[in-house]
Amino acid sequence: MAVGEFGLIDRFFSGMDAGAAVRLGVGDDAAVLSVPEGHVLHTSVDTAVEGVHFLPGMPPADIAFRSVMAAASDLAAMGAAPAGMLLALTIPSVDQGWLTAFVDGLRDASEQTGLPLVGGDTTRGPLSVTVTVMGSTPTAAYLKRSGAREGDRVCVSGTLGDAAAGLAALRGDLSISDAMVSNGLVGRFARPIARLALGESLRAVASAAIDVSDGLLADAAHIADASEVAIDIDCHRLPLSDALRALPDQDQILRWALSGGDDYELLFTLPPDAILPAGCTEIGRVVVGSGVSCAVTPQQSGYDHFKD
Ligand code: ADP
Ligand code: MG
Repeated sequence: MAVGEFGLIDRFFSGMDAGAAVRLGVGDDAAVLSVPEGHVLHTSVDTAVEGVHFLPGMPPADIAFRSVMAAASDLAAMGAAPAGMLLALTIPSVDQGWLTAFVDGLRDASEQTGLPLVGGDTTRGPLSVTVTVMGSTPTAAYLKRSGAREGDRVCVSGTLGDAAAGLAALRGDLSISDAMVSNGLVGRFARPIARLALGESLRAVASAAIDVSDGLLADAAHIADASEVAIDIDCHRLPLSDALRALPDQDQILRWALSGGDDYELLFTLPPDAILPAGCTEIGRVVVGSGVSCAVTPQQSGYDHFKD
């Protein structure tokens, strides 16, 4: 480590490294994980930079929690079971109060995802958080973006657009008089939940999957491209939370649901006869062609906003 303060890692980043897959955690030159016989290792990394991926002054516990969930969401999208994670943390100074709060959020996310913190790196510089996650699936049974087939149903978990509305509220671009509603939406941005259990259960049924990190239309386009199909989305079927529905600007709501990122829900395709999992909504169809289309009623001016 480059920060130099003795015991920093010991004090803040050890003791979260117990897990079924962990043979050796924090403290040696590398962590050692095992993968069950007949399984493969999945790895993914995500970086969040202050001012780019999160607002300056965001509570440190939320920064940590979000960073872990954003990374874990990629495991969910593959249908992978969590094995462990690494944290590369760059901090401008050693602020014990800040670090204590950060580790609180980190521990919460570690416990909720089942991702033990098995190692990392700590350096000094502009605040940035990089989380590498590792998970496993049976060798031939994982979800990809490329398996969608004509006739499959397009489905999504949870509700869409809440995180984007929450971010707007945090930025002061959206004023909501009801504090409960406001906190709920902000919570969806600050404390997203990676759909790990759903991802694992989809392994047996879904033909393709992705997590909604960039926005529904953008992420649906990734499935369409990778699968060489087109996706038709019915905008009337988008799952919206009561909190989002209660906001006054209907066009804005639709824009957030279609193009707002950061929800970390799973978007997946199901063969016609597969059962829709609980908490998920069918929102469209896989058809022949390319790209993503989205039908809205003529009264809704929203469509123009989504052309690109
Ligand atoms: P090295 O110089 O060999 O890279 P470090 O001093 O960077 O060793 O790290 C010592 C141990 O602490 C390693 O096991 C490393 O994985 C772990 N570690 C360092 N920073 C973090 C962190 N932010 N979170 C978790 N583990 C960390
Ligand atoms: Mg190091």
